[in-house]
Amino acid sequence: MPVMPRPSILSVEPYVGGESKVPGVNRIVKLSSNEGPFGPPPAAIAAIAEAGREAHRYPDGGATALREAIGRHHGLDPARIVTGNGSDELLALLILAYGGEGTELVMSAHGFLMYELTGRWAGCHIIKVPEKNLVADVDGLIAACGPRTRLVILANPNNPTGALLPQAEVNRLRAGLREDILLVLDSAYAEYVEDPGYDPGQALVDAGSNTVMTRTFSKVWGLGGIRLGWAYGPAAIIDVMNRVRGPFNVSAPAMAAGIAALSEPDWVAKSVAHNSAWRARLTEGLEALGLKVHPSHGNFLLVDFGSAEASKAADAHLRARGLIVRGVAVYGLPTCLRITVGTAEECGMVLDALAGAGSPVQ
Ligand code: PMP
Repeated sequence: MPVMPRPSILSVEPYVGGESKVPGVNRIVKLSSNEGPFGPPPAAIAAIAEAGREAHRYPDGGATALREAIGRHHGLDPARIVTGNGSDELLALLILAYGGEGTELVMSAHGFLMYELTGRWAGCHIIKVPEKNLVADVDGLIAACGPRTRLVILANPNNPTGALLPQAEVNRLRAGLREDILLVLDSAYAEYVEDPGYDPGQALVDAGSNTVMTRTFSKVWGLGGIRLGWAYGPAAIIDVMNRVRGPFNVSAPAMAAGIAALSEPDWVAKSVAHNSAWRARLTEGLEALGLKVHPSHGNFLLVDFGSAEASKAADAHLRARGLIVRGVAVYGLPTCLRITVGTAEECGMVLDALAGAGSPVQ
């Protein structure tokens, strides 16, 4: 008999992402992972190099300086912050600690893929709740919760739809869930939201004992490659996360990069201003080509090509020109592609290519 993992683990396909090559094409424009278009903040690049000098030392297992810097930046108590190897790690820790065999995890039908993948290998039964016009349905989410439900996870804004659930609806969701259900608000794209009523989760976390917010340095901060995320929650939940995380789960260069990034005063404003201008222009340009673009509150657009064949053909057409975007058939959206808002030049290249006017990118 060969050694075997728990059966639920073999039900999960390995995650495929981060692809950055097209055979035969020299210049690649990667618009498939919702990364910031400006590279890392310059102060972070310097800090990573500097941290390399001490790479023979283990990092601070408590990430104290980083948690303090995050706390200062967001006005939060650092004792109620935990950092991780990307927010993916923190989401996995929450699912493992609060979910597992015999429990249910409730999510919106087009919620972020990792909730389902991690939930499945953790042994949770996954309940996907149908959406209304690609927006999470609060009544459906509440109604889907049964006695075994331990977690409800909501990305707001959501990836890949770009949808924003209005704050009153998020509040209604929390109010409609039993006390023993953990609500995880995944606010990976929080910085891009322009709705003044939006709470990335801080207010809801502080209002009770059963809500956690996760955030990332991978999007607006331009540090996807460094793998850095954080969670803010009630003390008891942060305590649980500290018990289950690895002792040195954030590397010294990642901590240094995060602290340095937070010291760049205009970085977020500049990135957000670019994003809102080019998200609008890209939307307009794509609509002018007759495509349906879903309203997005993130740094990407979900573009509907009308049929699975048309979306596959567009994907291949873009790829042949070095433009890598994300097919979202795995999300049950085979007629769509998800396109990250890149630099002005990159957005122009996408529009030119889709208009059939693009020359091969070499
Ligand atoms: N949540 C959402 C909604 C995301 O889109 C992503 C990145 N694709 C993540 C979490 C994970 O981000 P990271 O692990 O890089 O922090």
